[in-house]
Amino acid sequence: MSAPILVVGGGPAGLAAAEALASAGQRSILVEKEARLGGAPILSGYAKLVPSGEWAKDAIGGMVRRVEANALVQREPGCTVTAFSGEAGDFTAGLSNGKSLQVSAAILCTGFTHFDSVNKPEWGFGTYPDVVTTTQVEQMISSGNGVRCPSDGRKPQRVAILLCVGSRDRQIGREWCSKICCTVSANIAMEIREELPDCHVYIYYMDIRTFGLYETKYYWASQEVHKVKYIKARVAEVTSDGSRLVLKAEDTLVKRPITIPFDLVVHAIGMDPNVDNRSIAQVFGVALEEHGFLGKAGSYAHFGETSRPGVFVAGSATGPETIDDSIGQARAAAMSAFALARSRTAVPA
Ligand SMILES: Cc1cc2nc3c(=O)[nH]c(=O)nc-3n(C[C@H](O)[C@H](O)[C@H](O)COP(=O)(O)OP(=O)(O)OC[C@H]3O[C@@H](n4cnc5c(N)ncnc54)[C@H](O)[C@@H]3O)c2cc1C
Ligand code: SF4
Repeated sequence: MSAPILVVGGGPAGLAAAEALASAGQRSILVEKEARLGGAPILSGYAKLVPSGEWAKDAIGGMVRRVEANALVQREPGCTVTAFSGEAGDFTAGLSNGKSLQVSAAILCTGFTHFDSVNKPEWGFGTYPDVVTTTQVEQMISSGNGVRCPSDGRKPQRVAILLCVGSRDRQIGREWCSKICCTVSANIAMEIREELPDCHVYIYYMDIRTFGLYETKYYWASQEVHKVKYIKARVAEVTSDGSRLVLKAEDTLVKRPITIPFDLVVHAIGMDPNVDNRSIAQVFGVALEEHGFLGKAGSYAHFGETSRPGVFVAGSATGPETIDDSIGQARAAAMSAFALARSRTAVPA
């Protein structure tokens, strides 16, 4: 039997990689720095996922339970990889819990870091308690307590969701589109309208990128069925008049300044490179791409490979990705790693 394959990161991508390897009879060792598996959807308490509409705790929680029940997956929660040496087919990994492991390959599924909205201070986060992020609204919904203003617990009558917070913003060094936040925001807007039918929900956008089939289910349904209002605007600032938040922007269609009061302002935060990426790149000897995500060697012949033979990468570690695409990439990387592991296994004569 070949040496196990190291999978680093226990989010949707890492879980999918471990499960795919096990389905082929291949052992893996899953190293996760947090105490719990599940990645962002579980650790950040996401509510209903797009596009499936399933609760994250059921969909990704189900992946966690399957991996935890699989004897071919050795789990190492609460630790990181601190050393990695050798060559493809024969690596030694040192863990922060003191263990040393012999592995044939590694798959990096270390994901992303949520944009920290304090880096956009003019939009009120950190100054006003009723300026929150999409992850906070997801937590309000998944907790079952409903969407409320954190300052006093009241039901908001007017909500603004600001898109592209920490994405497509060259001024703060984040040029990329985070891919999923338009769709997630349309979904959240519809959920707020369902829970609070008297609440007016506005989405402030530069462009709408509800790509592919999401256009019908989210962009049009949010407007036509749920009466969510879209304003194409450049947001200037979020302040307070003492009782409500005040959102100042320029309506870029009619080219006029607009000032509208709101009870709750939601930042649709983007996906930053994992804050650990520099040390991950150093430990594993792999290259970063220009924005600080983990670099891919190529897309066609070498899907899932990094700059180091035997070390593969998948999911949002490589850049903003959806859960579906992260899972697909992880299965592809698992296939590549499995082929490598098998090629290094001595076949009995
Ligand atoms: C607000 C918001 C809502 C979203 N909603 C949806 C949605 O509804 N549908 C959808 O398709 N996508 C959604 N996404 C995107 C989704 O979060 C990602 O596609 C998904 O989490 C990617 O999975 P991953 O396994 O690549 O990364 P992650 O989920 O980030 O998992 C990475 C794992 O690696 C671990 N890790 C990190 N560094 C290390 C290290 N050094 N050593 C060991 N372990 C490490 C982390 O703790 C984590 O468990 C949303 C994103 C945001 C920001
Ligand atoms: S998906 Fe939408 S909100 Fe997210 S960065 Fe792209 S355009 Fe902005």
